[in-house]
Amino acid sequence: MNVIESTALGRRYRRTWALRDCTLGIPGGHIVALVGPNGAGKTTLLTMAVGLTKPTEGSVTVLGGVPAGSPDALDLIAFVAQDAPLYRNLPVADMPRVARNLNRRWDQGRADDRLDRLGIPRRQRVGQLSGGQKAQLALTIALARRPRLLVLDEPLAALDPVARDDFMASIVEEAARDDISVVLSSHVLAELERVASYLIVLTRGHVQVAGPVSELLAMHGAGLEEIALRHLRAGAGSADPRAPRTTTGTETAR
Ligand code: ATP
Repeated sequence: MNVIESTALGRRYRRTWALRDCTLGIPGGHIVALVGPNGAGKTTLLTMAVGLTKPTEGSVTVLGGVPAGSPDALDLIAFVAQDAPLYRNLPVADMPRVARNLNRRWDQGRADDRLDRLGIPRRQRVGQLSGGQKAQLALTIALARRPRLLVLDEPLAALDPVARDDFMASIVEEAARDDISVVLSSHVLAELERVASYLIVLTRGHVQVAGPVSELLAMHGAGLEEIALRHLRAGAGSADPRAPRTTTGTETAR
């Protein structure tokens, strides 16, 4: 089953299309890198996939159902938004307690283990944590919900190189251990190159390329970073943002 499937999906804000004609079929079991310049439509795509933004046109299903269509569907998807929203005034130890009351599949042992391993001080207020610690706390809460699909919007933005490395290592380890599909947007191509097995490049609201990295590699003879750069440049330079496209895997070309 595809974890995210969209058909001619689009979202318009007033007269501007944030995302248009987006047809994707992302198979399960991947770590998906969603890449694109500022304003390309990445957050719009992710928030439509998790049911926080309503499409203007087209359709999207997640794990075979309507995004956020039922409490059961909500339980299976964890979304970490761009600013890793957390309660700044709560002590670290209270964040999992709050989350536990909101999530029916909550695994307290998982949350405790991760906080112990990370060495994040429990009594410190969340607002006093470093950017890396906040990102790890948000990831800990997302993972303790035991999702089937983990969606992260630019989780690396505030992190230094070591924190980025640790964060991505956590994602790879946890995704493999619990068979979680992951979709994450990021501008940090070098980090994505190391972990992602599926690539989507968006520019100016349109899909430029989508497919398993192994197939793109065979087709282009280049790695994720190089393929992404080529398509980002092509998308930026083209008068018609729909012109240069490469699709493979289960994505349906228009
Ligand atoms: P970034 O890398 O900067 O986070 P992005 O690829 O996530 O960018 P989006 O946040 O999806 O891009 O925005 C796509 C377009 O839609 C932009 O032109 C943005 O200004 C516009 N947009 C997004 N949200 C809204 C909104 N709530 N109201 C009006 N316009 C919006």
